[in-house]
Amino acid sequence: MLAALAAGALWAAPGQALAAPATTWCGTPGTVDRLPEGNPGAPVHWIYAIPSDGTDRLATEIGTQMQTDAETIDGWWRGQDPTRTPRFDTLGFGCGQQLDISFVTLNSTAAELQPIASRFARILAGIEAAGFSSAVTKYIVYYDGPGDGTNVCGEGAGSAESEGVAIEFLSACDGLPSSVVVAHELLHSLGALPAPGPPHACPGDDGHPCDSQLDLLYPVATSGVPLTSLMLDVGHDDYYGHSGLWFDIQDSRWLRHLDTAPSHLSVVIQGAGTIASDVPGISCTASCESDWDANQPVGLVANAGPGMRFVRWSGGCTGNADCTSRLRRRRRSRRSSRRRHLPCRSRSPAAAVFARARLLAYARRVASCRSLLSTPSRSVRCRSRAGALRAGPARARERGSRARCR
Ligand SMILES: [Zn+2]
Repeated sequence: MLAALAAGALWAAPGQALAAPATTWCGTPGTVDRLPEGNPGAPVHWIYAIPSDGTDRLATEIGTQMQTDAETIDGWWRGQDPTRTPRFDTLGFGCGQQLDISFVTLNSTAAELQPIASRFARILAGIEAAGFSSAVTKYIVYYDGPGDGTNVCGEGAGSAESEGVAIEFLSACDGLPSSVVVAHELLHSLGALPAPGPPHACPGDDGHPCDSQLDLLYPVATSGVPLTSLMLDVGHDDYYGHSGLWFDIQDSRWLRHLDTAPSHLSVVIQGAGTIASDVPGISCTASCESDWDANQPVGLVANAGPGMRFVRWSGGCTGNADCTSRLRRRRRSRRSSRRRHLPCRSRSPAAAVFARARLLAYARRVASCRSLLSTPSRSVRCRSRAGALRAGPARARERGSRARCR
């Protein structure tokens, strides 16, 4: 649904966002997106990536920079729109909820990654080779390797409904806060600017608005200007909270809904087996509880343990197929297992039903992507906007470009 703004009540004046102090990241790096998610649902997952011959600075420095940036962006977004904030992927550690940061050693050397023309593609290939290629996850990558002196601060690309990547080049753009770069590229990864539609797209660059230099997505950034001085779609007429018919980033499934009470999902397991959600959220080996944004579809998949078979659902789900339900009210799912006498397959028959459902979802996504193309072709499934943020000593320039998303 496209949001029609009710006056300006939703929007805070710039400067009200929280300025987060440096927060020491006290988590440990992972190699996969770990569960359970602190905020179940389509996540924005954070990755620290170095060249194959690079130096790891995650624990000593960059982890804290990433945690601080996440808190800065979260506070700024809530100040701009009290009803939304990005669903940053967090995980419970002994010290509390922290970013779930994955560590990736890319399969290219620093020298290979230096030329800006091919850096984005190489980093994308590297994180995909490491297993980070989910269509329900947006990725924020802090690339810690040398630049080539072209003052490109970051690059981002993505579609409104599937893949998206935002990359921050740590070695570039002294004086420009990384939170500004990450938030700007995150908007690209979420599908900004949508096209066609926005009335203020820059001449010759439909990836950015040009109506105000205070817009976070303006193609020129100023060194030393913090995120708190910038706004999320000045005038709300191009990409966020607008009343037009084109895609609105405010409706992105990667944003949490802060204006509705969360829906509680309670899963009870009887017997030996596991239950996982079809979007990152839960993977329960015993009865478990989780809170989700209301009205989002959540699928549950049951896998019988060794020597067991899946019998049925009860409570919020029924039958013996996979359970897909829209979380509207408090519900309880109950799963029963009992021993079977024949050798047991690793997955229950319900998994086949789940596979068909995923294919249907994929078909819908492709259809949606095709609608963005003027000349659909078999070789191009989705084309989206990308932007490379450039900075100079005092001012930053940005070049817009198009990138193909997979
Ligand atoms: Zn841009």
